[in-house]
Amino acid sequence: MSFYKRLQTKKVNVGNVVIGGGAPVAIQSMTNTNSRDWKATVKQIKQLEEAGCEIVRVSLPDIESARNVSKIKKNIKVPLVADIHFDYRIAFEAIKQGIDKLRINPGNIGSKDRVESLVKEAKKAYIPIRIGVNAGSLKKVHNFSDNLSRAKAMVKAAMEHVKILEKCNFEDVVVSLKASNIDITVQAYKIFASKRNYPLHLGITEAGSVFSGTIKSAAGLGVMLFDGIGDTLRVSLTADPIEEVRAAYSLLQSMGLRSSGLEIVSCPTCSRCQVDLIKIVSEVEKKVFSMSSLKRNSKSIKIAIMGCMVNGPGEDKDADFGIAGGKNVGILFKNSKIIGKIKPDKWVQKIVSMIKSYQDLRE
Ligand code: SF4
Repeated sequence: MSFYKRLQTKKVNVGNVVIGGGAPVAIQSMTNTNSRDWKATVKQIKQLEEAGCEIVRVSLPDIESARNVSKIKKNIKVPLVADIHFDYRIAFEAIKQGIDKLRINPGNIGSKDRVESLVKEAKKAYIPIRIGVNAGSLKKVHNFSDNLSRAKAMVKAAMEHVKILEKCNFEDVVVSLKASNIDITVQAYKIFASKRNYPLHLGITEAGSVFSGTIKSAAGLGVMLFDGIGDTLRVSLTADPIEEVRAAYSLLQSMGLRSSGLEIVSCPTCSRCQVDLIKIVSEVEKKVFSMSSLKRNSKSIKIAIMGCMVNGPGEDKDADFGIAGGKNVGILFKNSKIIGKIKPDKWVQKIVSMIKSYQDLRE
């Protein structure tokens, strides 16, 4: 489905999801519940699953939270990644509890012996390790005067961790190099991609709110995806993590890399519009996006929701169906032919039921 030439990367399995090796770009998010509260964490992961999230990361700040991994795993379907900093004992506990992947930087967990024994356990359990370098955690990075030097410093840090794992003959590795600055991030990923073929987890860190963070992430990740870089991604937002999943699907769908199951074409409205189109489109999106039955990996159902008849029938041409506003009425189109009329207060209901029936037809 993609017209971008993706870089050939190594294939890594995270539970039942494949990252790299040409697999579809996997969508990730992260819980923001207290992971010591496993019930609340499961509840949020289930919501993320419904929204189409394919891999969920959970931060494990202590042993107590790591002991919850098996309880969480029993209640969810998606692979679970443990985010661990510095304390190798938490990583051991997470493996024991059945975690699917570790996000830990081996250079930060102490002696060679510790690293070797952790890698041995990860290997035995077929668990990959993500090395995640963040510009913010590299103190020296602030001493550099230009973005390229900062990006190089991030790659250097990532390579130090990578080499530690390679020395242990461990190659089930995924790498991320995130900064809050797009230029630094893009350069770091490009440099790293020229050195190793490990799959890359993309992200712009601390990107911001739903609005500004989505735009910033789309700009940064879009540049890399356009160049074929990226096997999995997270759109990091200061928001409900569901918004991260929505933004990720929207970004990947707009680039033709993934299907969210639904594509809405809608006009910006103008003085010709006589229905509350903004409200209608946002209600349809809200109702349909969380449908667990949306077929996210098949061709999206495409609908055109237009304010008036000027562009309505035209936009409907390559859509499954369309609806265009008239005076106190909505005109339903299929292949540019009128197939029905609906009152404005019934638009949302009608569109949602038509999406459902189109979906059923595709099953
Ligand atoms: S489709 Fe009609 S209402 Fe919408 S922007 Fe175009 S002319 Fe205006």
